[in-house]
Amino acid sequence: MIIFNQDVINNFFYIILSIFLIFFLIERKMIHGWYTRLATLVSLSMAIILCMLSPIYQNPYCVHDLRMIPFVLGIMYGGPYTGLALLVVLLLSRTMIYSWSIVAFVIYAVIYLLTIIGMKWFDFDRLTSRKKIIFSVILFTVHSLVAALIANAMTVFVMDESYLINFILLPSVGMLILTYICETLLKQIQIKQALVKIEKMEVLAQLAASISHEVKNPLTVIKGFLRLLNQENLPVGKKEQYLAIASSELNRAEDIINDYLTFAKPDPDQVENISISGQLNKLVDMVEPLSNQQSVDVHKSIMDATIVGNTRSFQQAFLNIMKNAIESMPKGGTLTILSKVQKGNVSITITDTGIGMTSEQQARLGEPYFSTKEKGTGLGLMVSYRIIEAMRGVITVDSRVGQGTSFQIVFPVDRLKDPSSL
Ligand code: ADP
Ligand code: MG
Repeated sequence: MIIFNQDVINNFFYIILSIFLIFFLIERKMIHGWYTRLATLVSLSMAIILCMLSPIYQNPYCVHDLRMIPFVLGIMYGGPYTGLALLVVLLLSRTMIYSWSIVAFVIYAVIYLLTIIGMKWFDFDRLTSRKKIIFSVILFTVHSLVAALIANAMTVFVMDESYLINFILLPSVGMLILTYICETLLKQIQIKQALVKIEKMEVLAQLAASISHEVKNPLTVIKGFLRLLNQENLPVGKKEQYLAIASSELNRAEDIINDYLTFAKPDPDQVENISISGQLNKLVDMVEPLSNQQSVDVHKSIMDATIVGNTRSFQQAFLNIMKNAIESMPKGGTLTILSKVQKGNVSITITDTGIGMTSEQQARLGEPYFSTKEKGTGLGLMVSYRIIEAMRGVITVDSRVGQGTSFQIVFPVDRLKDPSSL
């Protein structure tokens, strides 16, 4: 009887460690797309090999450990290709550590195929968390039974009570716990992504209010000139003049709406070259209605450089910071936007002459739900910080109560595109 000896605990430890490593990398946004699959493959392969080096039970016909758990988790969450690569790793390492075994080959190939068929049959990706957990436990019990039947048919193998406990019950309970952990971690990541969207909606709603106000002004002007145009006996040349004014006001309204719409579009997760001056100028245009409303003067001194990242995310990050700066000056003030290129870095500074922050408040910046505003969400800066960190940016804040705040963000410049390095 084995049930819970040191080797079982070691096996669980290796698997949990590999799962946490993958989620840590995903959560910190250190890996995307194909790199996620590669990291999953490497991390689970390590778990498989370490489990194999720490057998729970061994006799001349069979070696038992929990390697099947990372293998099946890899197929379920990494997909068929990751699963196939794990199958190769598993068979190669088993051959190197012990010896080649045709029984092991047949068992793992059948388990691989059964998992893929089971996932297709039950449409695994669309199952709820709870159903995924139930699916994985049932699948695992079936796997263990199938493995026993194959071993029984191909070798001298006795299925006794201890087998039932150690080969079927223990791995299935292990699978239950580990799938539960994976699902909980996945949910965490999804909640964080949803928060980013909620914050964006909040900013959109507030911007929409000030924008509709701003669009009304040009529309009123246009209305007035159209009425004038309707007059008879219009002096010569006046008609052209009125039309020119109306058309320039229309362009202005169109620009405001276009900026807003670009920001409101759903986010493609695409990395491209970002022109600092292009984007900062656009952002200044976007916050102009808001700053006009609060009698805030906007000054800018912008040097261009190119960095790499997602344009929409860049806009979202800086819009939050600029909006906070304007909101910190309810009685008016000056917002200064500065960008400089120095030693392969571009630094962007956003300074306000607003209410400022105490050092306790500064220490909490970027924390979710930290807000000192009556209607604040406390999510804006959390989102900005996450985006900027993902773009390898570094943020420094300098603030004095009653005097104002300055946010400095430094990004590494894409060298080939940096005009100062030419
Ligand atoms: P919200 O704007 O919804 O309150 P944020 O995450 O954008 O949430 O900001 C969190 C808090 O940080 C604000 O409530 C405010 O207290 C403080 N803060 C951020 N930027 C500034 C600034 N420029 N001046 C003063 N306080 C600021
Ligand atoms: Mg804010």
